[in-house]
Amino acid sequence: PLVLGIETSCDETGIGIVRGRELLANVIASSMDEHARYGGVVPEVAARAHLEALEPTLREALDTAGVTLDELDGIAVTSGPGLSGALMVGIGAAKGLALATGKPLYAVNHLVGHVGADVLRADGSELELPTIALLVSGGHTSLLHVRDLLSDVELLGETIDDAAGEAFDKVARLLGLGYPGGPRIDEAAASGDPAAIRFPRGLTQPKDLERHRYDFSFSGLKTAVARWVEQRQDAGEHVPVADVAASFRESVADVLTAKAIAACVDRGVPRLLLGGGVAANARIRGLAQERADAAGVELRVPPLSLCTDNGAMIAAVGAGLIAAGRAPSGLGFGADSTLPVTTVQM
Ligand code: ATP
Ligand code: MG
Ligand code: FE
Repeated sequence: PLVLGIETSCDETGIGIVRGRELLANVIASSMDEHARYGGVVPEVAARAHLEALEPTLREALDTAGVTLDELDGIAVTSGPGLSGALMVGIGAAKGLALATGKPLYAVNHLVGHVGADVLRADGSELELPTIALLVSGGHTSLLHVRDLLSDVELLGETIDDAAGEAFDKVARLLGLGYPGGPRIDEAAASGDPAAIRFPRGLTQPKDLERHRYDFSFSGLKTAVARWVEQRQDAGEHVPVADVAASFRESVADVLTAKAIAACVDRGVPRLLLGGGVAANARIRGLAQERADAAGVELRVPPLSLCTDNGAMIAAVGAGLIAAGRAPSGLGFGADSTLPVTTVQM
């Protein structure tokens, strides 16, 4: 099926067009620069930016794919989780398009979209199921056991405070590295010593593991970094930014990959899929590969353009729903900022 996907859950206005598993267009407009001065995504600013970016992004996607709205078999839109105001802009646009064209509309879960993005890989290799999936971005940090993308996604664990990307952004800010933090810390860390400072590993103590085996916590780490830097500054000492960045990044990479591989081993699932913008992190990728190899786990990391928020991944899930004969969502649904990953379609 030929499907148009609309994604506006955070700061990317993404419009993608797929024909089944074939990617025809994946156009993204980001309002990231507008959030830079605040050090994080400002919901109101993101919603306004979506409103402005939607129409030109849609036109470019249709042009790139060389298709018209008439030819579509369906429209898919992210209905949650995400920022309410931002989601509502995409949902409103999708409903308008569906009404005007008479095409069926599918309300899709954003997190399922991140997993579904894998089917659009250019190399054509297929994701085998079941798989464990680790989704890490500015807004979420989730560990999933995916048995069937459209009907059986289990949430194993998630962050109990900050998302991994949020931690990168906050630590980058306190180190004066700018926004977005992930790439800046990656850069600074390249010349640092990851063993220079032993920062805490959230929720990895035996007593934590009983209740939070697959959960994450990054706010304690952020506070530990802040305290370490402050103590140096108060003592009038030089702050070794590269070493702090490398040591911080090591803590995040260590915890994320250890828990993801543990889930693969515990569940007897020899596959791990990485998704989300933080999957761009050089050390997280590297350590995940090392540990996956050691555990006999196959690691899959889709290209970055499919890892960060995009409309093509939403279109891909929509195409899956249509192919499976699922009923459309109608026009009565709203935005659900906390939509659980178990609800694939609203
Ligand atoms: P959502 O959470 O809804 O997916 P988002 O816009 O926060 O939305 P993405 O666009 O997928 O998520 O990713 C952006 C996040 O990824 C930012 O927090 C950014 O700092 C982080 N990031 C990007 N590159 C890297 C990197 N090399 N290392 C670590 N983090 C990175
Ligand atoms: Mg983003
Ligand atoms: Fe996302």
